Amino acid sequence: MKVIRYLVFTTLVLVGLIYALSKLQIVQDFLLKRAVLNQVSSFQEFPDDALSALVCGSGSPIPAENIAETCILIKAGENYYIIDSGGGSVENLFTWQIDFSKIKAVFLTHLHSDHISDLPNLHLNTWIAQQRQGRLQVYGPRGVKRVTEGFEKAYELDYIYRHIHHGNNIAPLDNVGFDANTIDVLNEVFYQVDDLKVTAFEVEHDPVTPALGFRFEYGDRSIVISGDTKYSQKTIDAARNADVLFHEAQANHLLSELEDGLISAKRVLTAKIMEDILSYHTTPVEAAMIANQANVDHLVFYHLVPYPRNNLMAEIFVRGVDDIRENWTLSKDGTLVVLPLNSDSIEISLIK
Ligand SMILES: [Zn+2]
Ligand SMILES: [Zn+2]
Repeated sequence: MKVIRYLVFTTLVLVGLIYALSKLQIVQDFLLKRAVLNQVSSFQEFPDDALSALVCGSGSPIPAENIAETCILIKAGENYYIIDSGGGSVENLFTWQIDFSKIKAVFLTHLHSDHISDLPNLHLNTWIAQQRQGRLQVYGPRGVKRVTEGFEKAYELDYIYRHIHHGNNIAPLDNVGFDANTIDVLNEVFYQVDDLKVTAFEVEHDPVTPALGFRFEYGDRSIVISGDTKYSQKTIDAARNADVLFHEAQANHLLSELEDGLISAKRVLTAKIMEDILSYHTTPVEAAMIANQANVDHLVFYHLVPYPRNNLMAEIFVRGVDDIRENWTLSKDGTLVVLPLNSDSIEISLIK
């Protein structure tokens, strides 16, 4: 009894001491210095001798707290590529200390807002005080130039203000803006740098046409990203024998519950949206069937509609998947997949 009383007393004294110390400016300044140094002195490291994918946004247009909209960073060798730039994804990249100077290009699957809305922030972070050579390279389906020109127009004054404020070394006007490249070659390589080959394929996301998916091949490893699509034979064909397939997923059984709730709450217009999108995406079970038919080693669900906010919702989200497939992961912001070259290994972790 005495021992317990002593332990409780000591713990209370310690907690009190830490609280009192945290109020001292000198202690606050010391902790701040350490945090700042930690934030600015090191970049996140991934292996160079691998093809890697980092989920920088696992969400969708239905908002979820602290979850970014769609974004996947691909690393091939030393170079980074961003596939879709949904809202909140650049903050993720910044928080995880990604080296923005290594981002060589952006690939857009399609031009829905949840895939493009962080493009201006990505532009800013690869421009200011970075070594980006030239404008930000953006590849996307027909209409991509209209999107980048619109952003350039909207941010024209911002570019000028920053250039005047920081000078040419930090904010060079020569490198401002986007180089938009329309992808009109499908099912064969449209982008090749060193050993990386990228192929685009059309998916089914009507009335969004064209909507694309991408296949990345680097050395002997491959990653396929579905983009937004309903169940499609085209995805199966493009993903054939890939190491990893990142497939969008929409849990229609959860959306139906959401729709019922919204109708009860007399939010009929929002309920109608849930109804409209039921045939617009792929269910987790359908994505698992696609991965099976394509003989893919590992399936990662991303672009989760609606994003499962807790373990219970996550369990319900993937209901039925285990019955037809092993080897799958429900991604979060920060899910990292590393495929070392000359190996069959698939390493999956969470970086935050
Ligand atoms: Zn989307
Ligand atoms: Zn979409």
